[in-house]
Amino acid sequence: QDPVPSDIAISRAQKPKKITKIAEELGLLEKELEPYGHYKAKVDPKLIIDRLDEQAEGDKVANGNYVLVAGITPTPLGEGKSTTTMGLTQALGAHLGYNSIANVRQPSMGPTFGVKGGAAGGGYAQVIPMDEFNMHLTGDIHAISAAQNLLCAAVDTRMFHESTSKTIKGFYKRLVPAKKGKRSFTPSMLARLNKLGITATNPDDLTDAEIEQFARLDIDPESITIKRVVDCNDRFVREITIGQGKNEASKFPPRKSGMDITVASELMAILALSTSLKDLRARVGKLVVGTQANTGVAITAEDVGCAGAITALLKDAIKPNLMQTLEGTPVFVHAGPFANISIGASSVIADRVALKLTSPSNPINNGQKGFVVTEAGFDFTMGGERFFNIKCRTSGFKPNTVVLVATSRALKLHGGATDVKPGQPLPQEYTSENLEFLEKGCANLAKQIANIKQYNVPVVVAINQFETDTEAEIKLIQEQALAAGADFAVPSNHWAKGGAGAVELAKSVVEAVKLSNNDTPQNYLYDVNDTVENKLFAIASKMYGASAIELSPLAKQQIETYTRQGYDKLPICIAKTQYSLSHDPALKGVPTGFTVPIREVRCSAGAGYLYALAAEIMTIPGLPTHAGFMNVEVNDDGEIEGLF
Ligand code: ADP
Repeated sequence: QDPVPSDIAISRAQKPKKITKIAEELGLLEKELEPYGHYKAKVDPKLIIDRLDEQAEGDKVANGNYVLVAGITPTPLGEGKSTTTMGLTQALGAHLGYNSIANVRQPSMGPTFGVKGGAAGGGYAQVIPMDEFNMHLTGDIHAISAAQNLLCAAVDTRMFHESTSKTIKGFYKRLVPAKKGKRSFTPSMLARLNKLGITATNPDDLTDAEIEQFARLDIDPESITIKRVVDCNDRFVREITIGQGKNEASKFPPRKSGMDITVASELMAILALSTSLKDLRARVGKLVVGTQANTGVAITAEDVGCAGAITALLKDAIKPNLMQTLEGTPVFVHAGPFANISIGASSVIADRVALKLTSPSNPINNGQKGFVVTEAGFDFTMGGERFFNIKCRTSGFKPNTVVLVATSRALKLHGGATDVKPGQPLPQEYTSENLEFLEKGCANLAKQIANIKQYNVPVVVAINQFETDTEAEIKLIQEQALAAGADFAVPSNHWAKGGAGAVELAKSVVEAVKLSNNDTPQNYLYDVNDTVENKLFAIASKMYGASAIELSPLAKQQIETYTRQGYDKLPICIAKTQYSLSHDPALKGVPTGFTVPIREVRCSAGAGYLYALAAEIMTIPGLPTHAGFMNVEVNDDGEIEGLF
């Protein structure tokens, strides 16, 4: 239609297929599907993977083609990565006849009701129903909030009870109470004993010294790294004081803490990186909550006795959610870790399921490999780097192609055009032909292509077309992309035309995956067994273009602690601005020769990575004066309006 209607209007105008129909088209069995209403369902990863592995002839590890969609350095306008992910899947599935699945993150309600809006894609390339997608979905984020808040309550209460007990023996008796005259350890208590090297398994057999060792966690309140969470951009809980009630404060000092947005929690990162329920349980057990006061030993969720209950709260959240695109092709929506302090990508387990469903072992594919199209957070340099070095290292999957999304307007901004803000009218150089800014800005595109090539994977540049793009502009981007080493560079008009507008892009992707080599192992940027400092330098120099890193005294001390605690052999993610290839948003274009300051290094031991802060990172955003929620209404038929 001309003009293209609003995203929610397009979403509402399309009658979705029943989710049972989408499942049937994917070859899922009834027992593998758990519908939540008419248009959403959870799938059971274990049942599906086991069945298809059993059916696989010969090559058990055969998977579908794995395609990563990443972006150039973003602008506040959004480059259309999600839109391109949807458009490409629609083209592959509804127009070229492949079994094609999009795997995307579940959006947080923070941005949905804040500035950015949802992440369902846009125009005629979207996940539907977009209101259900953007809000509660099947409750996974709520489950994570519940689990994280349980853990926080467990830690504070443990400190309170431990410190207000007269003797540690008395505390131990209450910690391991007798049931019908008999006392026994819970599985997590047994895990703690094992960690301490205590061999007695009967609570009555521990010596006084062992009781002391076992029961006294003695968590240093200053060392606590976990925070309570809420899935809302509520800036007023960034800093709070807890424990001010009279029953607590009279016995135990209140402490300063703060809250994070739920998707910034380590449990969200664990959900994204777990390969199975069993793996999730193991990772939750390893989550570090703080350190023991006198010894500096890391105290985990397992030590607090909370890992089993957290897993219970997340046992459904681990199952990927099935939805559909506007053209009725399948989409898995699963996990949504914060893009700056975490991987910013959807889950490993959804990728496992989708890669199996698109593999030749799924009978509906008639021996043909399908496509799994998934997305990286921010630009390739940040999100793509973590996708390869953290997510793929965890999953063992190797992308067959990277689709790099570029828009003329973002390239113009990188080339020196006037700065822009969302919601404000665009200056004229964006809406009419301007080859000078565009050509200069293509340096960013070239650096992103060179960065992708370091992973030895074919690159398809997708030029996400805007109505005002001219032929000469598109041609210039194509030429620059190919000169920079891209294997293909094509315009794509899925926003205005849906899958039909992305057929050329889809055909290029089909050709590009043929260039990938499944027999060689994936190239990573660094060896995880190298020192933390060398790993940081590898990312800063090879991806960002830096000539050095500089560790603050605090970062050095933290690296020492993690090395002593045995957490130094993990991959690492650097939190920095997304608006520059460097750590400094003011450094435009393709800067070189700069030094990346590392202020702090933190550890997500359960999720399995370290993260370094090269900038001050807000882990709970705020709401603006005119926030997204102000536009939202429900009409008399119960339909939601005003989401975008
Ligand atoms: P990203 O994933 O890069 O943040 P999105 O795909 O969410 O970007 O798109 C951001 C916004 O831009 C959405 O509202 C979408 O409708 C709009 N958009 C994307 N591509 C186009 C296009 N080609 N023309 C017009 N608007 C677009």
